[in-house]
Amino acid sequence: LTGKSPDLESTGSGTTTKRSSVSSGSRSRTRRDFLTRFTNSEHFTDKLQDWFSLSLQNSESDAPVFDPPFELVELQKFDYALEGVSFQQLTRMPNAVYGSTSASVEANAYLAIEDFLHATVKTLWEAFWSQEDEPVPFSVGCLYNQNLKFYQAEQALALGKLEDLSATGVLLKNPRHPHGKWDHILELALLRPDIESDHHQPSLPLLGEALFYALRILIARSVSRLDFSQSSNCVFILLVDTQHGGVVKVEGDVSKLDFDVSSVYDCAAEWIQKHSKISVSPVDRIWNKLGNANWGDIGTLQVVFATYHSIMQFFGPPRHSIEDLAADHTSRLHSRRQERHLGEDTSLNENGAFRSPEIVEVQEEEERGESMKLEVGSVLWLEDSNYQKGYQISHVSLPHHIASPVDDDDDSGRAVFLYVGSPPSQLEPAWEDMNLWYQVQRQTKILSVMKQRGLSSKYLPELHGSGRVIHPGQCQKPSSGGRCDHPWCGTPILATTPVGETVADLVNEGMFGPEEAIRCCHDCLSALSSSSSGGIRHGDIRPENVVYVTSGVRQPYFVLIGWGHAVLEERDRPAMNLHFSSTYALQEGKLCAASDAESLIYMLYFCCGGDLPDLDSVEGALQWRETSWSKRLIQQKLGDVSTILKAFSDYVDSLCGTPYPLDCDIWLRRLKRNLSEDHGKDIETSG
Ligand SMILES: [Zn+2]
Repeated sequence: LTGKSPDLESTGSGTTTKRSSVSSGSRSRTRRDFLTRFTNSEHFTDKLQDWFSLSLQNSESDAPVFDPPFELVELQKFDYALEGVSFQQLTRMPNAVYGSTSASVEANAYLAIEDFLHATVKTLWEAFWSQEDEPVPFSVGCLYNQNLKFYQAEQALALGKLEDLSATGVLLKNPRHPHGKWDHILELALLRPDIESDHHQPSLPLLGEALFYALRILIARSVSRLDFSQSSNCVFILLVDTQHGGVVKVEGDVSKLDFDVSSVYDCAAEWIQKHSKISVSPVDRIWNKLGNANWGDIGTLQVVFATYHSIMQFFGPPRHSIEDLAADHTSRLHSRRQERHLGEDTSLNENGAFRSPEIVEVQEEEERGESMKLEVGSVLWLEDSNYQKGYQISHVSLPHHIASPVDDDDDSGRAVFLYVGSPPSQLEPAWEDMNLWYQVQRQTKILSVMKQRGLSSKYLPELHGSGRVIHPGQCQKPSSGGRCDHPWCGTPILATTPVGETVADLVNEGMFGPEEAIRCCHDCLSALSSSSSGGIRHGDIRPENVVYVTSGVRQPYFVLIGWGHAVLEERDRPAMNLHFSSTYALQEGKLCAASDAESLIYMLYFCCGGDLPDLDSVEGALQWRETSWSKRLIQQKLGDVSTILKAFSDYVDSLCGTPYPLDCDIWLRRLKRNLSEDHGKDIETSG
C-alpha cells in the first residue's frame, strides 16, 4: 500500500481517527443506536411503497424510473482498459433451469457468487492498484441475517444456514474482525431469484432491500474510524440472480438523516426520499448457460465497474489509471494488424484507427450511415436550451470547424470553433468517438463550470453555444426524449470563441519566434492562473491546444483551448501524452500544482526547436525528463530564446512534483516586462 490505505484499527496509531470531540462522541452513539434498531428491511420497504408508486406514475410508461449509474462511454473506456486483463471465475454459476432442487441451486449459487466477487476484486486490485505482489486486502463472505455478520459461504452452508443468508459482501480483510464490520464493507451483492421485473429494472421489494443495506453501510461509515481516501457517501449494491445482474447506487449525506431512535424506519424512508440520489442500471446478462461469467458483456462490466469504484473509495485512485490501460488498446490494435500482415503502408493515426484511404472511407460509410457531412457555406442549427442557434461553416477541419453565428442579435461578426460530436445512435461507440466525447460533451461541461464559477479571462475560451443539432426533415423523436431514426438526431455540438491558428500551425509555418514564445508563455500562464483560481487544471497542454488570435484585435494574443481533459475533482484524470504530460501526471496519473506549467515548458521547448525525442513508453518519457532537467538541456534551449523563459523554466523545475503553487503574479509581471510591444502598456486592455 502506498500509505493511504485505510487505517485499520489494529494499528492503533490514532492519527487518522476522525472524530474525537465529546459532541461527536454522543452523535456517534446515537447513530450506533439507530443501527442496532434498523434491522428489518421489510418494515423499511413498506414505508417506501407510496413514494415508489408515485415515482412510477411520474415516469414515462416505458422509461426507467431511475437514471443509470454509469454512462455508456465510461463503460466503453473501462472495457478498453480491461482488454489485457483476464478474470477467471472457477466456481460455475448453477443453471436454475436444469438444476436439481432449488435449494441445491441456491447453495451452489452462493458459492459461485463468492468466487465471482473474489475473482473480480483480486483481478481489479492486481491490474490497477497493487505493486510488487502486494496481497489482496479483501475478503468475501456471506451475510448471516440473524446477527448481521459475515461467514464464508462454505462454512455457513455446512452449518445448514442457507435460509438465513441474505447477501454476499466484499470487505476489507481484517484479522481482528473475522466476521466483518459494516464500515469495512466495500459493496454487497444480493442474490435473489428473477431480479428483473419490468423494463429491465428491479422490483420494489428488491430495490427496497438494496436501499436498506446501502443506508446501513452509509451510517456505519459515518461513525467509522477508517480514513476514507475518497468520498464515502455513496454505496453500490449489486443485484444478481443465476443469469443476470444489475447495479444500484445510493448517494447522500447521512448527516441529514434524523436519527430518531423511536422511529427508525420513518426517518430512514424520509432520508431516502428527500436526501438521497438513487441510480439503477438496467438488469443485464452476466452468466452464460455453462455458468461462466461473460466478462466483456455490459451486464458484467457494470458490476465490475461498480466494484472498481468501491475499491477506489477505500484505496484512492489506482496506480495505473483506466486511461493508461486503455491507451494500450492502440498498440494492441497495431500488433494485431502486424500479426495479420495487414497493409504495410497503412499507418495508425493517433486514435488507433488505421488510415488506409480506400478502406477507411468505405468502412466509415457503411458503419456510420450518413455521417454528418459538413461543407463550407452550409448552416448547422442547434437547439440551445430553449432557442435555436445557427452557425454557417466557413472552414472544415478537425477537431473543430470554423463557423460564424447566423444570429441577428449577434453582430459582433466573431467566428467560432464548432466541435461536432458523434450521434448517440451508435450502440458501441468507437475509440475515436471517445475523443469526440472529451472534445464536445466533457469540454461543454468544463466551460459551463468555468462560467458558473465566474472565471473569465481573454486567454480562456468562452462558451458560445451548445446543444443538440437540429437535423434536416421532421424530427420523429418521442416526446419522452431519446432520438428518432435520423442518423444525425441527438448529435451534440459545442461552439466556442475566439478562433485562431494553433501553435502547431505557427511552428510549421515558421511563425513562432522568440516574441511569440514569450507572449505564449505569458498568456497561457495567465489562463492557468485564472482557471486554477476556480479549482480547474487543464491537463492537456500541447501545441494543438493553444491558438493565436489575430483577427480583429490590435495586439494578437494566445488562448488556451481544448479543456476536455481538465481536472475538476480528485477522480478526474489528465490526458496522457509522452511528450507533453508532466512528470507527476506520468507517474501518478494526477496533476500537481505545477503540472500544467511543466507541460507549458515542454511545449515551448519543442516549439522553439528543442529536439523531439522518440518516446514509446512511460518509462522512456520519464527517463527523458529526468535527463533533460538534470543536464539543464531545457533551460539552455529556452535560454537561447530568452533569459526570462530560462528563468521561468528553472522556477518550474524547482516546483515540479511538490505541492507548492506557482506564484503566477510575479511571473506574469516579469514576462510582461519582456514583451517588447507591450512594454509599459497594460496588456489587459490591448485586445
Ligand atoms: Zn430526430
